[in-house]
Amino acid sequence: MIILHEATLAENILNIAFDAAEKNHAKKIFAVGLTLGELAGVEVEALTLSFDVLKKNSPAENATLKINRVPCRATCNKCGKTFTLERYNFFCPECDGVLILQSGRELLVDFVDCE
Ligand SMILES: [Zn+2]
Repeated sequence: MIILHEATLAENILNIAFDAAEKNHAKKIFAVGLTLGELAGVEVEALTLSFDVLKKNSPAENATLKINRVPCRATCNKCGKTFTLERYNFFCPECDGVLILQSGRELLVDFVDCE
């Protein structure tokens, strides 16, 4: 089953890739690089599946989606320690400080490899 959110996202990623290919007068897209934070709320499997379905009969037919996952990191505003978290907590595990999110919500197309 394809989740709508991921299908829409895959469509947007492909549109960015098509635009990049057009600007570079490229006919084929080989790879699309995506930076994706652990907290971006995207299912990688669903996204890859959607991408593979939507790329058919397009200049990106043989393109692979290269996903660079960014872990969730947060710094405490009290003790100053930085933690890598499985999921985002508002409070520091070591003191009662508040955690400030540093990374993990990224969702952007890094590069489009085309020719
Ligand atoms: Zn702390």
